[in-house]
Amino acid sequence: MKKQFLNLKILVAMTLLAALTGCGADSGNSAAAESASGQQAAPQKVYKWKMVTTWPKNFPGLGTAAENFSTMVGKMSGGRLEVKVYGAGQLVPAMETFDAVSQGTAEMGHSSAYYWKGKTRASAFFTSVPFGLNAQEMNGWLHYGGGMALWNELYEPFNLVPLAAGNTGVQMAGWFNKEINSLADLDGLKMRIPGIGGEVMSRLGVEAVNIPGGELYTSMQTGVIDATEWVGPYNDLAFGFHQVAKYYYYPGWHEPGPTLELIVNKQAFNSLPEDLQAIIEGAARAVNQDMLDDYTAHNYLALDELVNTHGVDVRPLPDEVLAELNRITQQVLEEIAAEDPEFKKVYDSQKAFQEQAIKYHKISEQAYYRARELK
Ligand code: CA
Repeated sequence: MKKQFLNLKILVAMTLLAALTGCGADSGNSAAAESASGQQAAPQKVYKWKMVTTWPKNFPGLGTAAENFSTMVGKMSGGRLEVKVYGAGQLVPAMETFDAVSQGTAEMGHSSAYYWKGKTRASAFFTSVPFGLNAQEMNGWLHYGGGMALWNELYEPFNLVPLAAGNTGVQMAGWFNKEINSLADLDGLKMRIPGIGGEVMSRLGVEAVNIPGGELYTSMQTGVIDATEWVGPYNDLAFGFHQVAKYYYYPGWHEPGPTLELIVNKQAFNSLPEDLQAIIEGAARAVNQDMLDDYTAHNYLALDELVNTHGVDVRPLPDEVLAELNRITQQVLEEIAAEDPEFKKVYDSQKAFQEQAIKYHKISEQAYYRARELK
């Protein structure tokens, strides 16, 4: 708490400095328009904003969602709000996205909340936790189940307004160069798997490491790691993992419905007229769904190519392994909740929502998937 308070004080000081020096949130200029009669119409203020991201520029799905948001906002606002998108490293390094937006270096950022677990561990719940909500359930929880209020509360001390802006859907368990037929096969495995999923794996004897996306192909090729998770067929095919791994395991138990976030500097957001604020919220909501649609359509095509053109061996993780991963996940979540009240608050909310969702989805989504298979 003390550290958070200190961060808050620094933020307040920086914000005041930005206001005094005229730098920061509002970098707009005014464009006066003249009417046909020669009279000057009310000037249209044009806001020129920067968006930093944790993805390479135009990276399939993740990077293109940021571009789509920018295009949409430009059109919806009639050019009054211009958002220039920067890929990872172009303005600030990927992992400085949160701080850059918090401090107003950029007005917005597009990233994943669970990258910021060093700021607040509860951020994990706003991306995805193992055996947690799928995309449909995440959207329900965020927008109608109290999730957004908790997210706003969590990011308030960081001077940020969060919005959901994308979802990959259920990911894959990952690419493996060793067969996983039992729990014993996990022992000694070296795998790239970040976050709570990595913590769970490490309790089963896995050496869980985090390596940036760009280094994964070589790490697999040279045997530095035996396995890696990334996203799903759409993104994994683009990275060429099928050239350096033997088996493609499913399902992505560790990331069942990862949400992407749009973070907005609070002063910048508050400086906008109400209609532009609504445009940001509306465009984020549209991109949130659009990205899932993009993944849904492209994952099917990419999986087909992986299997039928590249002969990839696609396998399910054994039930025994999944059941144990689930059991340990609950243990890890409970342990963190016991020592972190902020984490516990969000955990309790999401857990309660999930219990209800499971009850209903058993007789709706799940029953329908099963019915579809009956012939
Ligand atoms: Ca992943």
